[in-house]
Amino acid sequence: MKIAVVSPEAVPFAKTGGLADVAGALPKALSSLGADVKVFSPKYASIDEHTYRIETVLPNLRVPVGNGVEDFSLKGCRLPDSEVEWLFVDSPEYFGRDDLYVDKKTGQDFPDNDERFLLFCRGVLESLKALGWKPDLLHLNDWQTGLIPAYLRSVYSQDPFFSETKTVFTIHNIAYQGNFPSETSKKLNLPADYFYPAAGLEYWGMTSYLKSGIYFADLITTVSPRYAQEISSSNEFGCGMEGLLRARRSDLHGIMNGIDYKVWNPEIDRFLPFKYRADNLEGKRKNRLALRKQMGLPNPRKRLPLIGIISRLASQKGFDLIEACSKELMKLDLQMVVLGTGEERYQKLFRSLRRRYPRKVGLKLGFDEALAHRIEAGSDMFLMPSRYEPCGLNQLYSLKYGTVPIVRKTGGLADSIEDYDPESGLGSGFVFEEYSPEALLGAVNRALEAYRNKERWEKLMRYGMSLDFSWEASAREYLKLYQRLKRNPEPVAVESQSCF
Ligand code: ADP
Repeated sequence: MKIAVVSPEAVPFAKTGGLADVAGALPKALSSLGADVKVFSPKYASIDEHTYRIETVLPNLRVPVGNGVEDFSLKGCRLPDSEVEWLFVDSPEYFGRDDLYVDKKTGQDFPDNDERFLLFCRGVLESLKALGWKPDLLHLNDWQTGLIPAYLRSVYSQDPFFSETKTVFTIHNIAYQGNFPSETSKKLNLPADYFYPAAGLEYWGMTSYLKSGIYFADLITTVSPRYAQEISSSNEFGCGMEGLLRARRSDLHGIMNGIDYKVWNPEIDRFLPFKYRADNLEGKRKNRLALRKQMGLPNPRKRLPLIGIISRLASQKGFDLIEACSKELMKLDLQMVVLGTGEERYQKLFRSLRRRYPRKVGLKLGFDEALAHRIEAGSDMFLMPSRYEPCGLNQLYSLKYGTVPIVRKTGGLADSIEDYDPESGLGSGFVFEEYSPEALLGAVNRALEAYRNKERWEKLMRYGMSLDFSWEASAREYLKLYQRLKRNPEPVAVESQSCF
């Protein structure tokens, strides 16, 4: 099967969040199951051509943008660890910037994001044609790729090159929608009726790239079964797309992300000063010491748990709960290390905790891949009090590193962490349901209680380390879906639009 994975970011080239981890790992897993895989992303200025030996594959390509045309080229490389070909849509005008979507100087989205990802979407389709490589399946990820199914259903609908090509559109976070002013519609060269009220791209007077993906793709997936159910059941989770998702209920599937154990594995992790494994946790103890030192935290005289947080500092992640109970939290027998970037409000919160409790809170505001690995390895517990969480990766990394997750019961957190029962000793972490500071404190207290019994705690750690969330199982699920589409030659129709 020929599969083109299209994603606005992919590890190791560019990353702002979990999508990049997925787009970096799933193609390799599909390829090792026998699929022929190419991955398309934009060529941002921050991707160093020299490091990855990126070379021009096709020069002088062009796509229409509004009434004009824009030039781009296709570049590409291979990495030593797989057969996957990594291809980059290179337009210095649109992507020759270090930042991916948000201009660091202004803190705002780039004002031409509509044109940037229009060029990307059409650029991928034109590149496939120019390469002469007919994919059976286009696996699209997030709003930045949402125009592709719309183009396939219109501009390219009579093109024999794509006559067999099916699309799967994956929602990694439905809150990010790529909604642009209605004028954007004039740039896209799509049929005018796509922009009528309630049609495929129209969303409350705006032009929505995410809606386009959900509306026109043959199948839709999201990154955990629970999130699939959440986003189609209420406005709180569906962010306005719940009606359309309900209409496409039979085409919506939740497949849990896996993790790449070649990258996230304490036995071989290249970022760790000390490697370790479930049957010898000495290295974890040493990593904890090193982490405390790096983060400027004193070594406590008694056994005191270190709680890690690595996150985008966004309201989605539940930091208002920490804000609301920070005083009570700081009275407990614990230390915390926090790594994150994002909203000023939460930067301020953690800066102030660091200032007021320098013996308890370590902080780095920034994006730091190496430190993220060290926090996973050096912490005893990992806190994710998310308001919503499509899948979440850090709780899965935590399990593998013997770092017990404390999570809110939502999305992929609910699907991956079983609440610990001290009576039976069953469970993999501490789960709280109600979105409240009291419930969060309750879960932290239960974790601290369990931590006091060293033997039981180590059993809990080892249980988490033994769980398998590798990509293989998820990649097989995706392949099953792709194959289902291949057998079904008819485009899947949207059942109804009554929700709009
Ligand atoms: P999301 O995609 O919503 O940000 P996920 O848990 O799915 O959340 O994935 C987040 C990924 O980004 C993880 O690999 C995490 O380690 C990483 N990450 C988040 N913030 C930082 C940071 N400040 N520095 C390094 N890595 C980070």
